[in-house]
Amino acid sequence: MSTWTDNLTMETMAKERANPPFDVRKMSIEHHGSESDLVKKEKFMLEASRDPVFYSADIYDLTKDQIRERTMQRIQRLAHYVTSESVDDFQKRMELMSLLDPGLWTRLGVHYGLFLGAIRSGATPNQFSYWMEKGVIACQGMFGCFGMTELAHGSNVAGLETTAHFDAQTDEFVIHTPNLGATKWWIGGAAQTATHCSVFAQLIVKGKRYGTKTFIVPLRDPKSFQLLPGINIGDIGKKMGRDGIDNGYIQFTNVRIPRAYMLMKHTQVTRDGEVREPPLQQLTYGALLQGRTAMVADAANTAKKALTISVRYAAARRQFKSDAKAQYETQILDYPIHQRRLMPLVAQAVAFGYTALELQRLFEETSQALEALEPGDPNLEATIEKLKETHSTSAGLKAFCTWATLETIDRSRQACGGHGYSSYNGFANMHADFAVHCTWEGDNTILALQAGRFLISAYQDALDGKEQVSAGTKYLNNIEQVLAAKCESDEALDTLDGIDRGWATVAAHAVKKASEDYQACLKA
Ligand SMILES: Cc1cc2nc3c(=O)[nH]c(=O)nc-3n(C[C@H](O)[C@H](O)[C@H](O)COP(=O)(O)OP(=O)(O)OC[C@H]3O[C@@H](n4cnc5c(N)ncnc54)[C@H](O)[C@@H]3O)c2cc1C
Repeated sequence: MSTWTDNLTMETMAKERANPPFDVRKMSIEHHGSESDLVKKEKFMLEASRDPVFYSADIYDLTKDQIRERTMQRIQRLAHYVTSESVDDFQKRMELMSLLDPGLWTRLGVHYGLFLGAIRSGATPNQFSYWMEKGVIACQGMFGCFGMTELAHGSNVAGLETTAHFDAQTDEFVIHTPNLGATKWWIGGAAQTATHCSVFAQLIVKGKRYGTKTFIVPLRDPKSFQLLPGINIGDIGKKMGRDGIDNGYIQFTNVRIPRAYMLMKHTQVTRDGEVREPPLQQLTYGALLQGRTAMVADAANTAKKALTISVRYAAARRQFKSDAKAQYETQILDYPIHQRRLMPLVAQAVAFGYTALELQRLFEETSQALEALEPGDPNLEATIEKLKETHSTSAGLKAFCTWATLETIDRSRQACGGHGYSSYNGFANMHADFAVHCTWEGDNTILALQAGRFLISAYQDALDGKEQVSAGTKYLNNIEQVLAAKCESDEALDTLDGIDRGWATVAAHAVKKASEDYQACLKA
């Protein structure tokens, strides 16, 4: 006989939520870093949930064009906060927006994260002021896109073929797409909305190539939105997800820009065509760090979102009676195998959240150190070390956390049975939207290789007795001792120090094995 009652789900949820064994508020504060940050996010969430522009229940049935239009309406709404809120507050608001509408997050992220990030990390102070005055922050007369990838080259940035010839006669650069493969491809915002692009192109002065540098190239008239002479743009069309952003392709045919539109914080080209290169190439690494840092936070938030759905469903869903005398069928959350499917993922998502906070701290510290650098600065070497660490840590974490979160989304879907497959449950869009995090701003495999290279070289240094100063590789100091360490007792793993030492040994063995395998491959 059926034991179904229409309010059983509500009653079950109320029971599950009653008497938690921990203080929920305290836990939330921990997860968000501080009470003030949590309160802010709650305020932003409330505002979005009551604003009709952010109504999302119909999103599953909209066409690409309708989604793009809605994204622009939302951008219009958010533009108000860009100028009225601190950068920190706006970033927090955007972190939540990503959960609500990943396409919107990307649309603004391309402008504020990538385009502005390129200016911030590549412009001289004068150039920075110039572009600020042009309206980058308020998005007034300026909406940027980020033109790195080409049809033929993505991961291999050094292989990009777009050229920037210096014309000493007119004091201009000539930006040109020499062949079809050099067409800028996938460029977010290019198809319909961007007025400017930070273009990565080969700098060529007096016939000599100096590698890939960044140039700000106007694309459209900011009033009429007509393409400027020499600019050819097309729409890439429908994608697997994130249809709110208009990805496009761009071809440049002898487009002339003033010399000052090359970002010259690192490499400079003088009026006479003299090229001054930075003392250390690593200083130019900064541009992509912000995006990777944000993606680790997004991985944590998205995993929590997927797990909120699957764990809640597991509490409400009942299948079979474990006890024939029980009034109701058993909640699937009470099956140990179901707990084992979901709870490690919950723990992982929580750990990603703390990792994201720590990575953000590292990123901010490194950015400040970079911005404070002056010619001949005694802190140069320490800053380079910090930059290398931030680069490899953010690369490794971006790869690991986004791969793991993509898997979490699908495992959450499977944990919801047939209902998980309905688009209206959110998993389909979540998976399709999130998947690209494994590819863009550094394909995960490439980033994992970069992180691996850093770790293997740190291990070799540790073997040679060179002290590791980076927080991320300090565990390699006293390497022999760390490798030989054994867990004294189960109780040791109940303390933070015990867990820390345990992980140091596990990580040291993993890096040792990778290093030995790598050496063996080199010899083979
Ligand atoms: C939706 C979307 C939006 C994007 N937006 C932008 C944007 O706004 N601006 C922009 O500049 N770019 C953008 N991109 C491009 C994105 O950054 C690139 O697609 C990404 O960097 C990967 O480059 P690729 O596509 O050329 O892949 P490839 O580099 O060709 O890689 C293809 C495969 O080969 C593997 N591979 C490559 N080299 C090696 C190697 N040495 N060893 C082992 N494996 C290797 C990779 O792991 C990958 O699996 C976007 C992409 C997408 C999908």
